[in-house]
Amino acid sequence: MPLEQKLKYEAERDVKFANWVTRETGGENLRHCIQCGVCSATCPLSLYMDYTPRRLINLAREGFKKEVLSSLTIWLCASCYACRVECPKKIQVTDIMYLLKRRAIQEGVYPRHFPIPVLAKEFGRMIFLFGRVNETLLVIDLFLRTNWFRFLGMTRLGMNLMRTGRMSFIPEQIKRKRELRKILAALDAEEQKESAL
Ligand code: SF4
Ligand code: SF4
Repeated sequence: MPLEQKLKYEAERDVKFANWVTRETGGENLRHCIQCGVCSATCPLSLYMDYTPRRLINLAREGFKKEVLSSLTIWLCASCYACRVECPKKIQVTDIMYLLKRRAIQEGVYPRHFPIPVLAKEFGRMIFLFGRVNETLLVIDLFLRTNWFRFLGMTRLGMNLMRTGRMSFIPEQIKRKRELRKILAALDAEEQKESAL
């Protein structure tokens, strides 16, 4: 890891962000973390992460917002809960990963061509529009935004699936979409208000 990524300065801290993480559901006992590293040792994916779970937890609670929200770690987390089970202080690492993912999407700082945030965002958009997810549109959108060439390579498979009725362009919709949208918009507004505190 380059030296500038290791060194952190007090002036770079965003105290508001640190307070937000510890106020949110899942982050309440974040300050009890003793930095033992059990989460990193247990995590099957820490090897591939830019910050190990232990480091990410520390950066989050100290308010290093930029590093945390733009890290690949939050997107690589597979939500296996192994860290949560083994943590001696019962820190809810997995839930904190979810919190940070949501915030990263809200602030538009997720890695643009990395499939997981694109998928999460598009999934949410479809639920908002139709109340259900259409796999065909989801997959097409994902490939167009992340990997054009892969999309071209899978056209034939897609056509075959459509011919046999396994995929469709027509999204299924729920009946009371407007009500669902109102609920989702209210939740969104609530979350944004809390993020601003
Ligand atoms: S296992 Fe728990 S206490 Fe130990 S570093 Fe990870 S989050 Fe902190
Ligand atoms: S929940 Fe995420 S961070 Fe925790 S062990 Fe599993 S992959 Fe690693």
